[in-house]
Amino acid sequence: MSSDEQTAQEALTFADLGLSPKVLSAVTDAGYTVPTPIQAGAIPHALQGKDVLGIAQTGTGKTAAFVLPMITRLEKGRARARMPRTLILEPTRELAAQVEENFIKYGKNHKLNIALLIGGVSFDEQDRKLERGADVLIATPGRLLDHRERGKLLLNGVEILVIDEADRMLDMGFIPDIERICEMIPSLTRQTLFFSATMPPEITKLTEKFLHAPVRVEVSKAASTATNIVQRLVKSGPKPWDKRAALRDLIKAEEEGLKNAIIFCNRKVEVAELFRSLVKYDFDAGALHGDMDQRARMQMLASFRDGKLKLLVASDVAARGLDIPDVSHVFNYDVPIHAEDYVHRIGRTGRAGRSGKSFTIVTKSDAKYLAAIEKLIGQLIEWHDGDLSTVVASEGEDEAPRRGRGAPRRAGRKDEGERKRGGRDRHAEKPAREPEAAQSNVDAADAPNDRRDRKDAIRSDNAERKARPDRAEQPRRDERPRREDRNGRPDRTEQNRRQREQDDDGTVGFGEDMPAFMRVSAKV
Ligand code: AMP
Repeated sequence: MSSDEQTAQEALTFADLGLSPKVLSAVTDAGYTVPTPIQAGAIPHALQGKDVLGIAQTGTGKTAAFVLPMITRLEKGRARARMPRTLILEPTRELAAQVEENFIKYGKNHKLNIALLIGGVSFDEQDRKLERGADVLIATPGRLLDHRERGKLLLNGVEILVIDEADRMLDMGFIPDIERICEMIPSLTRQTLFFSATMPPEITKLTEKFLHAPVRVEVSKAASTATNIVQRLVKSGPKPWDKRAALRDLIKAEEEGLKNAIIFCNRKVEVAELFRSLVKYDFDAGALHGDMDQRARMQMLASFRDGKLKLLVASDVAARGLDIPDVSHVFNYDVPIHAEDYVHRIGRTGRAGRSGKSFTIVTKSDAKYLAAIEKLIGQLIEWHDGDLSTVVASEGEDEAPRRGRGAPRRAGRKDEGERKRGGRDRHAEKPAREPEAAQSNVDAADAPNDRRDRKDAIRSDNAERKARPDRAEQPRRDERPRREDRNGRPDRTEQNRRQREQDDDGTVGFGEDMPAFMRVSAKV
């Protein structure tokens, strides 16, 4: 889109886009007056029944860009049992649930039957909704295919297919499933709306195969970061306690403008450790990781969204696609290993044109990942506080193995670090205990009520750590074809892949052969 076109589109109102009066009234009630560029670009074409290829990150208003025209088009016609009229595919349960919320909000003047097919909840209620006839089916790919294989679902009545967050689907190994699903829906009668933040070659190939003369709407350059986000790098020593101290200093320094923040870690074990540490230091923090069950995740997310929780520590996988409006800060506790994750992370702030701040804690060993990020976004990120050459603690300074519980403490290490940093933490006078914090078990019975839930989470997390050895949680790219046994049932590899989807949390290190028992999560 040229900048002139964009300016012209930004001047449009929702009433100019061709949406029905009932939809317009719901949009007005939602408080939105001006369509975002992706909405202005996509909605008129979607209403005409054209295929749309939308290249847009979350936070640009892309959900409404497909939900609003869909509701308008659904005003004509009726759903039949087990034959949904529209299908939206989402990579994660949270994202699917958010899309459902959007349909409820914008469909308040309609009587839409919405069915949400996601893992982690029973099939029965989902079966009932399908049986009743769904106008809108929102699903993650694995659960959708499970329903189809159980004979509860026919896809040949789907008029509109939405594939959302396609690049995330690729990261999570869902592309073969997406291809299968696309092949089940008659291509001549269906309209396809396809959204992706970036366009790697695999995604381009998919669009060439399944979209018909799509209208391409690109609202910002692929892999670019929004200009309304202030991005800064913060140097740190290499050890976890150096990084935690750097983060605490940063949060305190930013206190004034910090409404709420997401703190990203690369691995779920770090999410758990950092969360424990922040709570110990009396920060108002919660955690979100893929091992929590669906209910606990939704509750945590709701507290954060409602402003009851200020800091949310999360992994990339757990935070994928979250719609949390108006996050003032993003902290990267770890530099992401995959450069695209940086774009997704900092896209959590500065949404819908607001301003935001992101800080990335960098150690010397992160240099190559940082270089990849700067190459991807095409700009150098400014240092907040000098650069790594002035880091006090150097790599290898402390090679001592981590102490187990009850081992004698090495005095002074962290106190020293904090003094050098000049941090005047109110805990600084206390003996430094942080390295133990990660190992310790907290007794919720001793905690005041308002902190009990979080301490429960700590306890449960310890149980999870016993049940599941620490593993990196970066999702795998997995495009191998679906495998089935002689009877057409999914074989063990396939079952494992589905379990992975149910966990919403890819793991590496075991390949496809991770035994099923290791995937079983301890419930919070
Ligand atoms: P999304 O990109 O769909 O995740 O949307 C990001 C956020 O922008 C959500 O909180 C939406 O409610 C909000 N939003 C969507 N459309 C508009 C609009 N036209 N004006 C202001 N905010 C919007």
